[in-house]
Amino acid sequence: MLYNRTMKVVMLASEVVPFAKTGGLADVAGALPKFLGSLGSEVAVILPLYRETRKKGLSLGRVVEHLEMNWSGKRECFSVLGRDEGPVRFLLVEKDEFFDRDQLYGTPKGDYPDNGERFAFFSKAALETVKHLGFRPDVVHAHDWQAAMALVLLRHVYADDPFFRHTRSLFTIHNLAYQGLSDREILEKIGLPDSLFHMDGLEFYGRVNYLKGGILYATAVNTVSRKYSREIQTPEFGHRLDGLLRKRRDRLFGILNGADYADWNPATDRFIIRPYDPTYLDGKKQCRKDLLKAFSLPEAAEDVPVIGMVSRLAGQKGFDILSEALEGIFKRGAVLIVLGTGEDVFEMSLSAAQKKHPRSFGLRIAFDEALSHKIYAGSDMFLIPSRYEPCGLTQMYSLRYGTIPVVRATGGLDDTIQEYDPAQRTGNGFKFADYSASALLAALEKAMSIQRQKDRWRPLIQRAMACDFSWEKSAREYIRLYQKLPEF
Ligand code: ADP
Repeated sequence: MLYNRTMKVVMLASEVVPFAKTGGLADVAGALPKFLGSLGSEVAVILPLYRETRKKGLSLGRVVEHLEMNWSGKRECFSVLGRDEGPVRFLLVEKDEFFDRDQLYGTPKGDYPDNGERFAFFSKAALETVKHLGFRPDVVHAHDWQAAMALVLLRHVYADDPFFRHTRSLFTIHNLAYQGLSDREILEKIGLPDSLFHMDGLEFYGRVNYLKGGILYATAVNTVSRKYSREIQTPEFGHRLDGLLRKRRDRLFGILNGADYADWNPATDRFIIRPYDPTYLDGKKQCRKDLLKAFSLPEAAEDVPVIGMVSRLAGQKGFDILSEALEGIFKRGAVLIVLGTGEDVFEMSLSAAQKKHPRSFGLRIAFDEALSHKIYAGSDMFLIPSRYEPCGLTQMYSLRYGTIPVVRATGGLDDTIQEYDPAQRTGNGFKFADYSASALLAALEKAMSIQRQKDRWRPLIQRAMACDFSWEKSAREYIRLYQKLPEF
Protein backbone atom coordinates (compact mmCIF):
# COMPACT_ATOMS: atom_id res chain seq x y z
CA MET A 1 0.00 0.00 0.00
CA LEU A 2 1.48 3.35 -1.00
CA TYR A 3 -0.13 5.56 1.61
CA ASN A 4 0.47 3.94 4.97
CA ARG A 5 1.65 7.32 6.15
CA THR A 6 -0.54 10.41 6.28
CA MET A 7 -1.73 11.28 2.81
CA LYS A 8 -1.12 14.86 1.74
CA VAL A 9 -3.84 16.39 -0.39
CA VAL A 10 -3.82 19.80 -2.05
CA MET A 11 -7.30 20.89 -2.99
CA LEU A 12 -7.90 23.71 -5.46
CA ALA A 13 -11.31 25.33 -5.76
CA SER A 14 -12.51 28.75 -6.84
CA GLU A 15 -15.00 28.99 -3.96
CA VAL A 16 -14.93 27.51 -0.49
CA VAL A 17 -17.28 27.93 2.49
CA PRO A 18 -16.92 30.07 4.63
CA PHE A 19 -14.67 32.30 2.50
CA ALA A 20 -16.67 32.67 -0.72
CA LYS A 21 -19.75 31.01 -2.17
CA THR A 22 -21.99 31.19 -5.21
CA GLY A 23 -23.17 27.57 -5.29
CA GLY A 24 -22.67 23.97 -4.28
CA LEU A 25 -18.96 23.83 -5.12
CA ALA A 26 -18.25 26.06 -2.12
CA ASP A 27 -20.16 23.75 0.22
CA VAL A 28 -18.25 20.75 -1.09
CA ALA A 29 -14.83 22.39 -1.00
CA GLY A 30 -15.52 23.58 2.54
CA ALA A 31 -16.78 20.28 3.92
CA LEU A 32 -14.86 17.51 2.14
CA PRO A 33 -11.41 18.61 3.46
CA LYS A 34 -12.74 18.61 7.02
CA PHE A 35 -13.86 15.00 6.66
CA LEU A 36 -10.67 13.96 4.85
CA GLY A 37 -8.81 15.52 7.76
CA SER A 38 -10.82 13.62 10.33
CA LEU A 39 -10.05 10.40 8.44
CA GLY A 40 -6.31 11.05 8.75
CA SER A 41 -5.29 13.09 5.69
CA GLU A 42 -3.41 16.34 5.78
CA VAL A 43 -5.13 18.83 3.49
CA ALA A 44 -4.26 22.23 2.08
CA VAL A 45 -7.24 23.97 0.46
CA ILE A 46 -6.35 26.82 -1.87
CA LEU A 47 -8.66 29.48 -3.29
CA PRO A 48 -8.36 33.08 -4.45
CA LEU A 49 -8.74 35.93 -1.98
CA TYR A 50 -11.80 37.84 -3.20
CA ARG A 51 -13.22 41.18 -2.12
CA GLU A 52 -16.19 39.22 -0.72
CA THR A 53 -13.84 37.31 1.58
CA ARG A 54 -12.13 40.44 2.85
CA LYS A 55 -15.50 42.00 3.64
CA LYS A 56 -16.42 39.04 5.84
CA GLY A 57 -13.61 39.96 8.21
CA LEU A 58 -12.62 36.34 8.88
CA SER A 59 -9.37 36.00 10.73
CA LEU A 60 -6.54 35.29 8.32
CA GLY A 61 -2.80 35.44 8.84
CA ARG A 62 -0.14 36.27 6.28
CA VAL A 63 1.49 33.02 5.20
CA VAL A 64 3.70 34.24 2.36
CA GLU A 65 4.51 37.90 1.96
CA HIS A 66 5.82 37.92 -1.58
CA LEU A 67 6.16 35.13 -4.09
CA GLU A 68 7.14 35.46 -7.73
CA MET A 69 6.46 33.27 -10.72
CA ASN A 70 6.79 33.43 -14.50
CA TRP A 71 3.68 34.92 -16.01
CA SER A 72 3.11 36.47 -19.36
CA GLY A 73 6.81 36.48 -20.13
CA LYS A 74 7.85 38.27 -16.95
CA ARG A 75 8.00 37.82 -13.19
CA GLU A 76 4.67 38.43 -11.45
CA CYS A 77 4.20 38.52 -7.70
CA PHE A 78 1.40 37.53 -5.33
CA SER A 79 0.96 36.85 -1.62
CA VAL A 80 -0.79 34.19 0.40
CA LEU A 81 -2.99 34.51 3.45
CA GLY A 82 -4.41 31.63 5.42
CA ARG A 83 -5.43 29.89 8.56
CA ASP A 84 -5.26 26.39 10.00
CA GLU A 85 -8.22 24.40 11.22
CA GLY A 86 -6.89 21.17 12.68
CA PRO A 87 -5.40 19.06 9.89
CA VAL A 88 -6.80 21.43 7.25
CA ARG A 89 -4.88 24.48 6.13
CA PHE A 90 -6.76 27.09 4.11
CA LEU A 91 -4.61 29.22 1.82
CA LEU A 92 -5.88 32.24 -0.11
CA VAL A 93 -4.00 33.61 -3.09
CA GLU A 94 -3.93 37.40 -2.94
CA LYS A 95 -3.69 39.10 -6.30
CA ASP A 96 -5.91 42.16 -6.21
CA GLU A 97 -5.62 42.94 -9.89
CA PHE A 98 -7.56 39.71 -10.52
CA PHE A 99 -9.65 39.04 -7.45
CA ASP A 100 -10.49 42.32 -5.73
CA ARG A 101 -13.77 42.72 -7.64
CA ASP A 102 -17.45 42.99 -6.79
CA GLN A 103 -18.26 39.43 -7.83
CA LEU A 104 -16.42 36.12 -8.13
CA TYR A 105 -17.02 35.42 -11.81
CA GLY A 106 -18.94 38.30 -13.36
CA THR A 107 -22.12 40.33 -13.31
CA PRO A 108 -25.66 39.21 -14.32
CA LYS A 109 -24.77 40.59 -17.76
CA GLY A 110 -21.95 38.10 -18.22
CA ASP A 111 -18.58 36.74 -17.14
CA TYR A 112 -15.51 38.90 -16.60
CA PRO A 113 -13.66 38.77 -19.93
CA ASP A 114 -10.34 37.85 -18.32
CA ASN A 115 -11.65 34.89 -16.30
CA GLY A 116 -9.36 32.53 -18.19
CA GLU A 117 -6.32 34.51 -17.15
CA ARG A 118 -7.57 35.06 -13.59
CA PHE A 119 -8.07 31.41 -12.82
CA ALA A 120 -5.02 30.14 -14.68
CA PHE A 121 -3.02 32.58 -12.57
CA PHE A 122 -4.69 31.23 -9.47
CA SER A 123 -3.92 27.63 -10.49
CA LYS A 124 -0.27 28.28 -11.16
CA ALA A 125 0.10 30.39 -8.02
CA ALA A 126 -1.40 27.53 -5.99
CA LEU A 127 1.24 25.08 -7.23
CA GLU A 128 4.01 27.61 -6.60
CA THR A 129 2.64 28.17 -3.10
CA VAL A 130 2.75 24.50 -2.03
CA LYS A 131 6.24 24.26 -3.47
CA HIS A 132 7.34 27.29 -1.56
CA LEU A 133 5.82 25.92 1.66
CA GLY A 134 7.34 22.47 1.11
CA PHE A 135 3.91 20.84 1.26
CA ARG A 136 4.64 17.92 -1.06
CA PRO A 137 1.28 16.58 -2.24
CA ASP A 138 0.45 12.95 -2.92
CA VAL A 139 -2.66 14.24 -4.64
CA VAL A 140 -3.58 17.51 -6.27
CA HIS A 141 -7.36 17.54 -6.33
CA ALA A 142 -8.72 20.26 -8.61
CA HIS A 143 -12.37 21.22 -8.87
CA ASP A 144 -14.03 22.50 -12.05
CA TRP A 145 -12.55 24.47 -14.92
CA GLN A 146 -11.26 27.27 -12.72
CA ALA A 147 -8.67 24.93 -11.20
CA ALA A 148 -8.10 22.68 -14.20
CA MET A 149 -4.99 24.45 -15.53
CA ALA A 150 -3.12 23.25 -12.44
CA LEU A 151 -3.39 19.71 -13.82
CA VAL A 152 -2.23 20.76 -17.27
CA LEU A 153 0.72 22.56 -15.67
CA LEU A 154 1.61 19.51 -13.59
CA ARG A 155 1.88 17.47 -16.76
CA HIS A 156 3.65 19.99 -18.93
CA VAL A 157 5.55 22.53 -16.87
CA TYR A 158 6.24 20.71 -13.63
CA ALA A 159 6.59 17.26 -15.21
CA ASP A 160 10.32 17.09 -14.44
CA ASP A 161 10.13 18.93 -11.16
CA PRO A 162 11.33 16.55 -8.44
CA PHE A 163 9.02 18.27 -5.97
CA PHE A 164 5.97 16.84 -7.75
CA ARG A 165 7.55 13.52 -8.73
CA HIS A 166 5.12 11.46 -6.67
CA THR A 167 2.11 13.69 -7.16
CA ARG A 168 -1.00 12.25 -8.80
CA SER A 169 -4.09 14.24 -9.61
CA LEU A 170 -7.85 14.06 -9.49
CA PHE A 171 -10.19 16.37 -11.38
CA THR A 172 -13.74 16.73 -10.12
CA ILE A 173 -16.39 18.00 -12.52
CA HIS A 174 -19.21 19.71 -10.67
CA ASN A 175 -20.87 20.96 -13.81
CA LEU A 176 -19.83 20.05 -17.34
CA ALA A 177 -21.57 23.05 -18.86
CA TYR A 178 -19.05 25.52 -17.47
CA GLN A 179 -15.86 24.80 -19.39
CA GLY A 180 -13.78 27.98 -19.33
CA LEU A 181 -12.82 29.07 -22.83
CA SER A 182 -9.94 31.38 -23.73
CA ASP A 183 -8.10 32.46 -26.82
CA ARG A 184 -5.00 30.59 -27.89
CA GLU A 185 -2.73 33.42 -26.67
CA ILE A 186 -3.47 32.42 -23.08
CA LEU A 187 -1.09 29.47 -23.40
CA GLU A 188 1.89 31.75 -23.76
CA LYS A 189 0.82 33.82 -20.75
CA ILE A 190 0.55 30.72 -18.59
CA GLY A 191 3.84 29.38 -19.91
CA LEU A 192 2.37 26.33 -21.65
CA PRO A 193 3.70 25.19 -25.05
CA ASP A 194 1.66 26.26 -28.04
CA SER A 195 2.01 22.67 -29.28
CA LEU A 196 -0.81 21.72 -26.87
CA PHE A 197 -3.21 23.61 -29.12
CA HIS A 198 -4.61 20.77 -31.21
CA MET A 199 -7.73 18.64 -31.28
CA ASP A 200 -6.33 15.94 -29.02
CA GLY A 201 -4.96 18.57 -26.67
CA LEU A 202 -6.46 21.76 -25.27
CA GLU A 203 -8.05 23.00 -28.47
CA PHE A 204 -11.83 23.02 -28.65
CA TYR A 205 -13.43 24.56 -31.72
CA GLY A 206 -10.67 27.15 -32.11
CA ARG A 207 -10.29 28.06 -28.44
CA VAL A 208 -8.53 26.75 -25.35
CA ASN A 209 -10.89 24.69 -23.17
CA TYR A 210 -9.84 24.49 -19.52
CA LEU A 211 -12.26 21.75 -18.52
CA LYS A 212 -11.04 19.61 -21.39
CA GLY A 213 -7.51 20.12 -20.08
CA GLY A 214 -8.55 18.83 -16.68
CA ILE A 215 -10.21 15.77 -18.18
CA LEU A 216 -7.23 15.02 -20.43
CA TYR A 217 -4.36 15.55 -18.06
CA ALA A 218 -5.66 14.50 -14.65
CA THR A 219 -4.65 11.06 -13.44
CA ALA A 220 -8.36 10.36 -12.91
CA VAL A 221 -11.63 12.24 -13.18
CA ASN A 222 -14.84 12.13 -11.19
CA THR A 223 -18.21 13.78 -11.12
CA VAL A 224 -20.55 14.23 -8.20
CA SER A 225 -23.06 11.42 -8.68
CA ARG A 226 -23.06 8.03 -10.38
CA LYS A 227 -25.92 8.94 -12.66
CA TYR A 228 -24.29 12.16 -13.85
CA SER A 229 -21.04 10.31 -14.53
CA ARG A 230 -23.01 8.15 -16.97
CA GLU A 231 -25.14 10.98 -18.38
CA ILE A 232 -22.15 13.09 -19.40
CA GLN A 233 -20.96 10.30 -21.68
CA THR A 234 -24.03 10.88 -23.87
CA PRO A 235 -24.48 13.63 -26.48
CA GLU A 236 -27.55 14.92 -24.63
CA PHE A 237 -25.61 15.81 -21.46
CA GLY A 238 -22.06 15.77 -22.80
CA HIS A 239 -21.73 19.44 -23.86
CA ARG A 240 -19.57 18.30 -26.79
CA LEU A 241 -17.12 16.55 -24.49
CA ASP A 242 -18.99 13.24 -24.32
CA GLY A 243 -16.64 11.62 -26.85
CA LEU A 244 -13.58 12.45 -24.76
CA LEU A 245 -15.33 11.30 -21.60
CA ARG A 246 -16.24 8.00 -23.22
CA LYS A 247 -12.60 7.57 -24.16
CA ARG A 248 -11.57 8.11 -20.56
CA ARG A 249 -14.38 6.11 -18.98
CA ASP A 250 -11.97 3.62 -17.40
CA ARG A 251 -10.80 6.43 -15.16
CA LEU A 252 -14.08 8.32 -14.76
CA PHE A 253 -15.95 7.87 -11.48
CA GLY A 254 -19.06 9.13 -9.72
CA ILE A 255 -18.91 10.03 -6.04
CA LEU A 256 -21.98 11.59 -4.51
CA ASN A 257 -21.51 14.82 -2.58
CA GLY A 258 -22.49 14.87 1.06
CA ALA A 259 -24.31 17.29 3.30
CA ASP A 260 -22.47 18.90 6.16
CA TYR A 261 -24.95 18.38 8.97
CA ALA A 262 -22.94 20.66 11.25
CA ASP A 263 -24.29 23.52 9.11
CA TRP A 264 -27.56 21.95 7.97
CA ASN A 265 -29.48 20.68 10.97
CA PRO A 266 -32.88 22.00 12.11
CA ALA A 267 -32.14 21.05 15.72
CA THR A 268 -29.19 23.44 15.96
CA ASP A 269 -29.75 25.95 13.14
CA ARG A 270 -29.10 29.50 14.35
CA PHE A 271 -30.89 31.03 11.37
CA ILE A 272 -34.36 29.60 12.09
CA ILE A 273 -36.84 30.87 14.62
CA ARG A 274 -37.48 27.58 16.40
CA PRO A 275 -35.28 24.49 16.34
CA TYR A 276 -37.02 21.18 15.74
CA ASP A 277 -36.39 17.49 15.20
CA PRO A 278 -38.45 14.49 14.06
CA THR A 279 -40.04 14.15 17.50
CA TYR A 280 -40.90 17.84 17.79
CA LEU A 281 -42.39 19.00 14.51
CA ASP A 282 -44.28 21.88 16.10
CA GLY A 283 -41.08 23.84 15.68
CA LYS A 284 -41.37 23.38 11.93
CA LYS A 285 -44.87 24.92 12.01
CA GLN A 286 -43.45 28.01 13.65
CA CYS A 287 -40.68 28.17 11.06
CA ARG A 288 -43.38 28.07 8.39
CA LYS A 289 -45.19 31.03 9.94
CA ASP A 290 -41.93 32.90 10.26
CA LEU A 291 -41.08 32.21 6.62
CA LEU A 292 -44.40 33.55 5.36
CA LYS A 293 -43.88 36.64 7.48
CA ALA A 294 -40.36 37.14 6.14
CA PHE A 295 -41.84 37.28 2.64
CA SER A 296 -44.81 39.47 3.74
CA LEU A 297 -47.24 36.74 2.74
CA PRO A 298 -50.56 36.16 4.52
CA GLU A 299 -50.81 33.31 7.01
CA ALA A 300 -51.66 30.02 5.32
CA ALA A 301 -53.79 27.15 6.64
CA GLU A 302 -51.96 23.93 7.40
CA ASP A 303 -53.09 22.16 4.25
CA VAL A 304 -52.01 24.97 1.93
CA PRO A 305 -48.82 23.75 0.30
CA VAL A 306 -45.88 26.11 0.79
CA ILE A 307 -43.35 25.30 -1.92
CA GLY A 308 -39.79 26.56 -1.50
CA MET A 309 -36.93 27.04 -3.94
CA VAL A 310 -33.35 28.20 -3.35
CA SER A 311 -31.42 28.27 -6.57
CA ARG A 312 -29.17 29.99 -9.00
CA LEU A 313 -31.46 31.51 -11.61
CA ALA A 314 -29.97 29.68 -14.57
CA GLY A 315 -31.37 27.77 -17.52
CA GLN A 316 -30.04 24.54 -16.02
CA LYS A 317 -32.28 24.89 -12.99
CA GLY A 318 -35.58 24.54 -14.83
CA PHE A 319 -36.89 28.11 -14.67
CA ASP A 320 -38.35 27.90 -18.15
CA ILE A 321 -40.72 25.06 -17.26
CA LEU A 322 -41.35 26.67 -13.88
CA SER A 323 -42.49 29.88 -15.60
CA GLU A 324 -44.89 27.86 -17.70
CA ALA A 325 -46.18 26.05 -14.61
CA LEU A 326 -46.65 29.13 -12.41
CA GLU A 327 -50.32 29.76 -13.19
CA GLY A 328 -51.05 26.07 -12.58
CA ILE A 329 -49.26 26.17 -9.22
CA PHE A 330 -51.28 29.15 -8.01
CA LYS A 331 -54.51 27.73 -9.42
CA ARG A 332 -53.97 24.71 -7.17
CA GLY A 333 -53.92 27.02 -4.17
CA ALA A 334 -50.21 26.70 -3.39
CA VAL A 335 -47.83 29.36 -2.10
CA LEU A 336 -44.47 29.59 -3.87
CA ILE A 337 -41.33 31.06 -2.33
CA VAL A 338 -38.21 31.59 -4.43
CA LEU A 339 -34.79 32.83 -3.36
CA GLY A 340 -32.24 33.21 -6.13
CA THR A 341 -29.93 35.32 -8.21
CA GLY A 342 -28.66 34.86 -11.71
CA GLU A 343 -29.62 35.55 -15.27
CA ASP A 344 -31.50 38.77 -16.02
CA VAL A 345 -34.14 37.04 -18.06
CA PHE A 346 -35.31 34.88 -15.15
CA GLU A 347 -35.04 37.69 -12.62
CA MET A 348 -37.38 39.73 -14.81
CA SER A 349 -39.94 37.05 -15.59
CA LEU A 350 -40.16 35.94 -11.96
CA SER A 351 -40.52 39.53 -10.76
CA ALA A 352 -43.36 40.10 -13.22
CA ALA A 353 -45.15 36.95 -12.01
CA GLN A 354 -44.66 37.97 -8.39
CA LYS A 355 -46.35 41.31 -9.06
CA LYS A 356 -49.29 39.45 -10.49
CA HIS A 357 -49.60 37.10 -7.51
CA PRO A 358 -48.43 39.12 -4.51
CA ARG A 359 -50.41 37.05 -1.99
CA SER A 360 -49.15 33.65 -3.07
CA PHE A 361 -45.70 34.29 -4.53
CA GLY A 362 -42.77 35.31 -2.34
CA LEU A 363 -39.69 36.26 -4.33
CA ARG A 364 -36.31 37.52 -3.18
CA ILE A 365 -33.66 38.23 -5.78
CA ALA A 366 -30.59 37.95 -3.59
CA PHE A 367 -27.95 35.63 -2.29
CA ASP A 368 -28.90 35.26 1.34
CA GLU A 369 -27.58 32.40 3.46
CA ALA A 370 -29.83 33.11 6.46
CA LEU A 371 -32.97 33.33 4.38
CA SER A 372 -32.08 30.09 2.59
CA HIS A 373 -32.14 28.27 5.93
CA LYS A 374 -35.56 29.74 6.70
CA ILE A 375 -36.85 28.39 3.40
CA TYR A 376 -35.48 24.88 3.94
CA ALA A 377 -37.12 24.86 7.38
CA GLY A 378 -40.40 26.66 6.72
CA SER A 379 -41.55 25.15 3.44
CA ASP A 380 -43.65 21.99 3.10
CA MET A 381 -42.13 20.99 -0.21
CA PHE A 382 -38.95 21.89 -2.04
CA LEU A 383 -39.05 22.14 -5.80
CA ILE A 384 -36.02 21.35 -8.03
CA PRO A 385 -37.13 21.11 -11.68
CA SER A 386 -33.58 21.02 -13.11
CA ARG A 387 -32.93 20.26 -16.74
CA TYR A 388 -29.81 18.49 -15.50
CA GLU A 389 -28.28 18.29 -12.02
CA PRO A 390 -24.78 16.89 -11.44
CA CYS A 391 -25.51 16.20 -7.78
CA GLY A 392 -27.64 18.85 -6.14
CA LEU A 393 -27.29 19.68 -2.49
CA THR A 394 -30.56 21.46 -1.88
CA GLN A 395 -32.59 18.23 -1.95
CA MET A 396 -30.29 16.81 0.74
CA TYR A 397 -30.70 19.90 2.89
CA SER A 398 -34.46 20.03 2.47
CA LEU A 399 -34.75 16.33 3.39
CA ARG A 400 -32.94 17.00 6.66
CA TYR A 401 -35.42 19.83 7.38
CA GLY A 402 -38.41 17.56 6.68
CA THR A 403 -39.28 19.54 3.55
CA ILE A 404 -40.32 17.07 0.90
CA PRO A 405 -38.38 17.31 -2.38
CA VAL A 406 -40.25 17.38 -5.67
CA VAL A 407 -37.55 16.93 -8.30
CA ARG A 408 -36.87 16.14 -11.89
CA ALA A 409 -35.36 12.65 -12.15
CA THR A 410 -31.91 13.59 -13.44
CA GLY A 411 -28.31 13.23 -12.21
CA GLY A 412 -27.85 13.33 -8.47
CA LEU A 413 -31.52 14.17 -7.93
CA ASP A 414 -32.42 10.77 -9.34
CA ASP A 415 -29.74 9.07 -7.23
CA THR A 416 -30.91 10.60 -3.94
CA ILE A 417 -34.69 10.81 -4.21
CA GLN A 418 -36.87 7.70 -4.21
CA GLU A 419 -40.46 8.12 -5.31
CA TYR A 420 -42.96 7.98 -2.47
CA ASP A 421 -45.02 4.81 -2.62
CA PRO A 422 -48.31 5.20 -0.74
CA ALA A 423 -48.96 1.43 -0.68
CA GLN A 424 -45.58 0.45 0.73
CA ARG A 425 -45.13 3.77 2.48
CA THR A 426 -41.56 3.98 1.20
CA GLY A 427 -39.62 6.72 -0.57
CA ASN A 428 -38.53 10.23 0.39
CA GLY A 429 -39.99 12.51 -2.26
CA PHE A 430 -41.62 12.92 -5.66
CA LYS A 431 -40.01 12.81 -9.09
CA PHE A 432 -40.94 13.55 -12.66
CA ALA A 433 -39.12 12.40 -15.77
CA ASP A 434 -40.34 14.59 -18.64
CA TYR A 435 -38.82 18.02 -18.79
CA SER A 436 -42.16 19.80 -19.04
CA ALA A 437 -44.50 22.05 -17.06
CA SER A 438 -47.23 19.41 -17.13
CA ALA A 439 -44.95 16.71 -15.64
CA LEU A 440 -43.82 19.19 -12.99
CA LEU A 441 -47.43 20.00 -12.09
CA ALA A 442 -48.42 16.33 -11.98
CA ALA A 443 -45.62 15.59 -9.48
CA LEU A 444 -46.60 18.58 -7.35
CA GLU A 445 -50.20 17.48 -7.42
CA LYS A 446 -49.23 14.03 -6.17
CA ALA A 447 -47.27 15.59 -3.32
CA MET A 448 -50.19 17.87 -2.48
CA SER A 449 -52.63 14.97 -2.33
CA ILE A 450 -50.38 13.19 0.19
CA GLN A 451 -49.97 16.39 2.19
CA ARG A 452 -53.73 16.43 2.70
CA GLN A 453 -53.50 12.97 4.34
CA LYS A 454 -51.90 13.70 7.69
CA ASP A 455 -51.39 10.04 8.58
CA ARG A 456 -49.18 9.72 5.52
CA TRP A 457 -47.52 13.12 5.38
CA ARG A 458 -46.11 13.13 8.90
CA PRO A 459 -44.33 9.76 8.59
CA LEU A 460 -43.01 10.90 5.21
CA ILE A 461 -41.52 14.00 6.86
CA GLN A 462 -39.96 11.84 9.54
CA ARG A 463 -38.53 9.45 7.00
CA ALA A 464 -37.09 12.33 5.00
CA MET A 465 -35.41 13.73 8.10
CA ALA A 466 -33.82 10.36 8.81
CA CYS A 467 -32.13 10.15 5.38
CA ASP A 468 -28.40 10.21 5.82
CA PHE A 469 -26.18 11.84 3.22
CA SER A 470 -23.37 12.69 5.60
CA TRP A 471 -19.94 13.40 4.14
CA GLU A 472 -18.14 10.64 5.94
CA LYS A 473 -19.15 7.95 3.45
CA SER A 474 -18.23 10.06 0.42
CA ALA A 475 -14.96 11.19 2.00
CA ARG A 476 -14.01 7.52 2.41
CA GLU A 477 -14.76 6.97 -1.27
CA TYR A 478 -12.48 9.88 -2.18
CA ILE A 479 -9.71 8.41 -0.07
CA ARG A 480 -10.11 5.05 -1.78
CA LEU A 481 -9.90 6.78 -5.15
CA TYR A 482 -6.82 8.80 -4.10
CA GLN A 483 -5.19 5.53 -3.07
CA LYS A 484 -5.91 4.00 -6.45
CA LEU A 485 -4.39 6.88 -8.43
CA PRO A 486 -0.86 5.45 -8.63
CA GLU A 487 -2.31 2.41 -10.41
CA PHE A 488 -3.53 4.41 -13.41
P1 ADP B 1 -25.37 24.59 -7.82
O1 ADP B 1 -24.01 24.34 -7.28
O2 ADP B 1 -25.58 24.08 -9.20
O3 ADP B 1 -25.78 26.01 -7.70
P2 ADP B 1 -26.29 22.92 -5.62
O4 ADP B 1 -27.63 22.36 -5.29
O5 ADP B 1 -25.17 21.94 -5.71
O6 ADP B 1 -26.43 23.77 -6.93
O7 ADP B 1 -25.86 23.96 -4.48
C1 ADP B 1 -26.48 25.18 -4.30
C2 ADP B 1 -25.99 25.80 -3.00
O8 ADP B 1 -26.09 27.21 -3.10
C3 ADP B 1 -26.83 25.41 -1.81
O9 ADP B 1 -26.05 25.50 -0.64
C4 ADP B 1 -27.91 26.50 -1.80
O10 ADP B 1 -28.50 26.65 -0.53
C5 ADP B 1 -27.06 27.69 -2.17
N1 ADP B 1 -27.79 28.79 -2.82
C6 ADP B 1 -28.17 28.87 -4.12
N2 ADP B 1 -28.77 30.06 -4.36
C7 ADP B 1 -28.77 30.74 -3.19
C8 ADP B 1 -29.25 32.03 -2.79
N3 ADP B 1 -29.82 32.85 -3.65
N4 ADP B 1 -29.07 32.40 -1.51
C9 ADP B 1 -28.46 31.57 -0.62
N5 ADP B 1 -28.00 30.34 -0.94
C10 ADP B 1 -28.14 29.93 -2.20
